[in-house]
This record gives sequence, structure tokens and C-alpha cells, in this order.
Amino acid sequence: MAGREPRRRKLRQVIGVDLGGTKLLGGVVDEHLEVHGRVHREVRGLSQDEIVETTVEAVTELREHVPDTAAVGFGIPCLIDQQTGVAVMAVNLDIQDLPFRDIMTERLGLPVFIDNDANVTTLVEQRFGAAKDATDVVGLTIGTGIGGGLVLDGRLYRGHWGGGAELGHMVVDEDGPPCQGHCPNRGCLEAVASGTAIGHEGMVAGEEEPDSDLGRHLAAGEPITGELVTTLALGGDEVSRMVLGHIGRLLGVGLSNISNIFNPEVIVIGGGAMGAGDLLLEPAREELRARGLRPNRDQVRVVAAKFGPDAGMLGAAVMALDELGQ
Ligand SMILES: [Zn+2]
Repeated sequence: MAGREPRRRKLRQVIGVDLGGTKLLGGVVDEHLEVHGRVHREVRGLSQDEIVETTVEAVTELREHVPDTAAVGFGIPCLIDQQTGVAVMAVNLDIQDLPFRDIMTERLGLPVFIDNDANVTTLVEQRFGAAKDATDVVGLTIGTGIGGGLVLDGRLYRGHWGGGAELGHMVVDEDGPPCQGHCPNRGCLEAVASGTAIGHEGMVAGEEEPDSDLGRHLAAGEPITGELVTTLALGGDEVSRMVLGHIGRLLGVGLSNISNIFNPEVIVIGGGAMGAGDLLLEPAREELRARGLRPNRDQVRVVAAKFGPDAGMLGAAVMALDELGQ
């Protein structure tokens, strides 16, 4: 007997917003991670009030485009007090003690969930990406700074009040260079192995090796960024490759700490610096194997993230869907 087709439940949709130091990327995302509409705004140099206004306006535009949304999730590069919903401080963004969740709830009239950007990118990689099906995952996002996230025993671990997991600010060199932005420390992983650090190291190497591609770009007055060093390295410049090898080994020092402490199954590495791929990851893996404790170091997989620039937006949406519950 032919039965009636079971009525399919409509997929829930939420808005995911990645609010970074230079840009805002938002999208309407469903439970299968399909994106139905996007917005993009420049936020570099904006004041805190302007960031709030730009964010409200961008989310409003998305809702006009796709009206049926159940919540908004935000991934922001801040330490967030999950009890109060306050974005307490950011190393690389001018946000301080901002009651972000309350403001957005009032202005948007929807349930609002906020989390650290690296937490949500780790979550989406564990749920749908390079660490799919692993229960113990550490994520690092290497760009201007280094963000860190932990999924332990299948759940995001945020620490006591929400300030975890700032893995980029583990010290790998006690007397190392001062860290950047609002971090008072020195020799943090972020200070020696971020995209910014690749640029600094590239500048030093270009001065020492004026006949290299790197040296010629420096002599021509071009700013030496992590992106340029990576492009030249991929094009075959040996000096640029050496810079990435050096930074990769420093990254590996951090990975050995992570492997020893957390015993993750997978460490996922994303962010703009991953344009360098194995030029950065292979020396990092070697250093991890040389420094880490057995058997953790031999079992952990160090892999490139699956999601590129959309990772924060998708992760913020997954976080919001999780928080909404079934
Ligand atoms: Zn630091």
C-alpha cells in the first residue's frame, strides 16, 4: 500500500556573522551548512560604536533578503564573558567591555549568541570539516594573530567564564619579541608564528639577502607581508622558503605543547597563513615529532582546515544552531 510521503521538516536557518578586525562577513546558513545570501562590510579602523551600527545594518539587510531566520550567531576575536555576553577585550580589535549580546538582542529582536571566532571555526571544522568525526580537536587560526579553539570530548571548551582558549598566547620564547596589540606578554606563539611574524621575518631576511626575490621586493619599497613571503615562496624563492621553514618550526614548538597537554586526535590549522600549506606545516610537524611526548606526538594528525574565508561565518551559524537546541 502506497503510504503518504512523510512531511519533511523545514530546515532551520540562522544568520552567522564573522566580525573580524578588517571585515564583517555574514550569511544565512541552514542546518546542512548551505548558505542562502551573504553580506560583506569593511570594518577596519571603525570605532566601537561604528562597528555596532555597521553590524546591525548588515544583519538587517540579510533578514530582508531571507526573512525566516531563527537566531544570530557572532564569532568575534575577543575574550567573551559568556555569563553576561560582554566582549571584554580583544588583542587585535578596538573592542572593550562591550555588552555585545544585550545590544544585539535589543537591536535585532532575535536570539543572539556570541563566541570567540577561533572557537567557532574549530567547531565547524570538527562538525563538518577537516576534523569531522574526531572528538578531541584543537584548532589554530593563523592570520594577523593566532586564535585557538578546543573541542574536547565532542564539546566546545570555553573555560570557566568563556575566556578560553587563547592558544596563540602560550609563551614559546621567554625572552622573545613583545606580543602585539593589547597583549602584555612577550614571546607568545602569536608574536613569533603569526602572519604578521612571517612579514617581520621576511623583512629581516630580505635585508640580509638583497639578491633574493624577497630582497628585490624590499629594495623596490614594497611592504613585506606574510602574504608576499608566501607568494614568493610558492614561486620558488629559496629565502622566502627558509623564512616559512623557520616560522613553521616555531609553530611546531607550540604544537608540541598542545599535543602534550591536550592529547588531541587532530590539530586543524586555518587562517590566511595557510596559503603556505605544507611549506609551513611540514616543518611544524617535524618539530612536533622531535619535541612532543610519545605516544601523543605519533598519533596526532596536523591538518589544514577545510573551510577558508567562510570558516568564521559558518562556525558562528553552527554555534547558534547548537545553542538553539533541537
Ligand atoms: Zn600574546
